[in-house]
Amino acid sequence: MVINVHAHLGHKNHHSDAFWNISARFYSNLMGVPLETIRKQMEPFQNYDAKLFVEQMDAAGIDKALVMAVDFEMNSDVGEAPWSIEEINHWVVKQANEYPDKLFTLCAIDPRRGERAIKLLEKAVVEWGMKGLKLHPTAGYYPDDPSFFPLYEKCLELDVPVYSHTAATIGPPFMSKYADPIYLDSIAAKFPDLEIVLIHFGSLSYHLKCAEIMFTRSNVYAELSGYQAQALLMPEYFLKNLRSILDAPGIKPHKDRLMFGTDWPMLETIMDQKNWVDWVKNIPEKGKEYGLKFKQREIRKILIDNAKKFLKL
Ligand SMILES: [Zn+2]
Repeated sequence: MVINVHAHLGHKNHHSDAFWNISARFYSNLMGVPLETIRKQMEPFQNYDAKLFVEQMDAAGIDKALVMAVDFEMNSDVGEAPWSIEEINHWVVKQANEYPDKLFTLCAIDPRRGERAIKLLEKAVVEWGMKGLKLHPTAGYYPDDPSFFPLYEKCLELDVPVYSHTAATIGPPFMSKYADPIYLDSIAAKFPDLEIVLIHFGSLSYHLKCAEIMFTRSNVYAELSGYQAQALLMPEYFLKNLRSILDAPGIKPHKDRLMFGTDWPMLETIMDQKNWVDWVKNIPEKGKEYGLKFKQREIRKILIDNAKKFLKL
């Protein structure tokens, strides 16, 4: 069994035209490809539904997955999408409900939506069965703003965790400074019973900060999506770091709190889900090339056991 705690379902109407145009210009510049070519390549990213995802998760040997949308729309350069944030999250729920034994959902909300965010979260969890709150602070907010505390108190009341993006790799107009995990540390300190998941485990810039935060915050967890790029381009660096982090102590050992994720479909062009699952399964063998010892049991915790426990499956 493999459990993926981070993947996306999406539809063109989840974002404004401005979002699609800004994204196309960014990828065109990044990859040196004409704008029209990029627009064509982006078409699959405008309708990635549960049917497509489940086909690909089956092929990758992934048994269960947490799926979610993203709420970028409060960013002033992006603007509201054709669908409301309620409609977007409900679409994700309806998609996931087609595969009730495989898919679970998170409710993506920008906490700047205030009272509306609290009402939506409550409905999402109580009526729709969603499993937690998903934040993407790069849209333009520090997650430890005290005006968001009532939303976190609602998470506690509903007994669901907060998942938040922590990685500096983000295209314009989104801003990496808001992805610094130190602002989640403040929430973890203020709400020691609130479970917080550091999405992407800080990636290249913030992973040591994530590890350090987890040392004293037993309510903080992490997942490894996004590391496909490091695994491909700098495997020795990735494996040495992973070895150190698995060995790190803490109130709750780090090795019991790291989970597996893919961020599908975002990283498919770098390393597809099947290759990423196989890469992680093969870490004990790969480690030997660099004189590093990994036990199958440690990898099993990342791929299965930690998420199973965390998601109460
Ligand atoms: Zn994501």
